[in-house]
Amino acid sequence: MTLKPLFLALFLTGCGAGGPLEDSTYLAITPALVDEYPSVVDVFQDAVQDWRSAGFPYTIDVQRASRAWDSGNRALLDSGEITNSDAVGITRLRPDYRLIVIRAGLGPDQLHQVVLHELGHFIGLDHTPSRRDVMFWRPAATELSKGDRAAVRELYRP
Ligand SMILES: [Zn+2]
Repeated sequence: MTLKPLFLALFLTGCGAGGPLEDSTYLAITPALVDEYPSVVDVFQDAVQDWRSAGFPYTIDVQRASRAWDSGNRALLDSGEITNSDAVGITRLRPDYRLIVIRAGLGPDQLHQVVLHELGHFIGLDHTPSRRDVMFWRPAATELSKGDRAAVRELYRP
């Protein structure tokens, strides 16, 4: 497994540093991530559908970022945030954007698992105590559980 960090970013204004998203939004998939995982846009689109079917009420438009994004954000790509940890994925919730970082070198099943889990953080979910949940801190589940569905309904309850 290589240790190259890969980044995705969402840019929003006024989404707050955490908690639920407040509107439909977009995720920009960086070229570096597509180079590593050619199917990653589809993997994200499928994961967005899974969370929507569980009660996430907004759309997330999964787009490809331009090549300029990678060069413009070289400092982020090189920050070592993920290479310094055991994590396969990390999501950062910042006042102006949310950022998902995924480790390179994952197999297809693990990529699906990690994307589903990180997207859960991206929409505002925390970890849960059950191993059956995608949002368990060390995710093994590949499908949303009853617990995951309950968590997203609770967070987005009108
Ligand atoms: Zn997590």
